[in-house]
Amino acid sequence: MSLANGRTYLAIPGPSVVPDAVLRAMHRASPNIYEGELPDMMPGLVTDLKRVARTDGHVAIYISNGHGAWEAALANTVAVGEKVLVLSTGHFAIGWARIAEARGIEVDLLEFPNGGTFDLERAEAALRADNGHAYKAVMAVHVDTSSSNRNEFAPLRKILDDLGHPALLMADCIAAMGCDRFEMDGWGVDVALTGSQKGLMCPPGLAFLFFNDKAAEGRRRLRHVSTYWDWTQRAAPEAFYQYFSGTAPTHHIYGLRAALDIIHAEGMEAIWQRHETLARAIWAAVEHWGQDGPLRLNIADPAVRSHAVTAMSIGKPNGTRLRRWCADEAGVTLGIGLGMASEDDPKSDGFFRFGHMGHVNVHMILGLLGVVEAGLGALDIPHRAGGASAAAKVISGV
Ligand SMILES: *Cc1c(COP(=O)(O)O)cnc(C)c1O
Repeated sequence: MSLANGRTYLAIPGPSVVPDAVLRAMHRASPNIYEGELPDMMPGLVTDLKRVARTDGHVAIYISNGHGAWEAALANTVAVGEKVLVLSTGHFAIGWARIAEARGIEVDLLEFPNGGTFDLERAEAALRADNGHAYKAVMAVHVDTSSSNRNEFAPLRKILDDLGHPALLMADCIAAMGCDRFEMDGWGVDVALTGSQKGLMCPPGLAFLFFNDKAAEGRRRLRHVSTYWDWTQRAAPEAFYQYFSGTAPTHHIYGLRAALDIIHAEGMEAIWQRHETLARAIWAAVEHWGQDGPLRLNIADPAVRSHAVTAMSIGKPNGTRLRRWCADEAGVTLGIGLGMASEDDPKSDGFFRFGHMGHVNVHMILGLLGVVEAGLGALDIPHRAGGASAAAKVISGV
C-alpha cells in the first residue's frame, strides 16, 4: 500500500516548487500584447529583476531555458575564433564550455576536483600566462548544481584587476540566484545569468542575462551578433515586442510579477538567511545519518556548500532505491545524481540530490527529511536513526 496520496513535492534542483500565487497569476485568458497591462508591467519587472541580481546594470530577457542564457551570454561577448577561460567545479561549467566550443570559440578548461572550489593560484597562473590578453572572458558557475559546491567571484575579480586583465567575468547563477547570496556589482561580475525555474520560483521558460556597461562596450566590438540573441535592443527596447524579439511570454510575465512580489516582500537578506538555515538543517540530518552507514555529503567543507542544493552519495544502488521509495511511497521526488557517473556506477545509482531552492520553508524541509529517514529504514540502508531530529534542533536553535 502506498501512502503517497496528498500534495506531491518535487524536491529536485529545478524546476522548483511554484507558489500558488504564481500559478494563480498565470491562470487567465490570453492578454493583449499590443497595449495595456502587459507592456505596462515591463519597467517594474526590469527594476525588480535587477534588485535580485544586485546590479544597477542592464537586463535582457529571453524566452528560453538556462541553455539559452548560456548561448546569449556568449553571443554578445565573444566572437568565433576568440578564446575564453572556463573554471569548472562540475557538470554545468563543462556544459557551458561545450556551447562555447560549438560556437567556434577556443576554450581553455581548468578543472578542479569534485568536492571543492577553485584553486585561485591555478586560475591566477592561467591568467598571468595570458599576457597578450587572448582571453575575452572568464566563465564560471556560481553554484554547480551537480556537485552542489558554491564558488566565490570577488577573488576572481581581484585577480583580473591585479593583473590588469580586461577579460569579462561571467557567472552562471542559474542554480541559486535568489537562494545563495550573489552580489553582481559588489563582486565585480560583468555578466550574470539565470533562469526562471529555480530561485525565481516560476515554471521553466524565461532566462535573464544581466550585464554591466563594460560588457555592453564589449558587445560593440563584435561585428556579427544575430538580431535574436543581441541583448542591446532587449535591454533598451523602443517597442514592447523588442523586449523579446517577437511575441511576449504572456503568462510567464504575470507569473514572474507575482514571484518578484513574493521575493521583495521577504527581502533578499531574509531569503538568503532562510536558505542558509534550511541548508544547515539538511546538513545536520545527513551528517547524523552518515555516522553509521554509507551516506555522505558530496561537499565536505561547509564554507563552499550551496544553500540551495545538496548532493550526496550513498552507494549503488541505494541512491536509486531511495529515490524510488520516496516518490512511490511518500509523494516526494528527490533529484538524481548528475555528473557523478563512474565506471563502477555508470548510471549514478549511488547518488542523489535535494533541491531546496525558492519556495521552501521549515515544514517542507522537515517533511522531506522525515520521509528520507523513513525510506532509509524501510529499505534497510544502514544509518544512525535521528537525522530528522538533528535537523529539527538546528531549526529550534535559531
Ligand atoms: C539548471 C542549470 C542549468 C541549465 O538550465 P536549463 O534551464 O536546464 O537549460 C545551467 N547551469 C546551472 C548552474 C543550473 O543549475
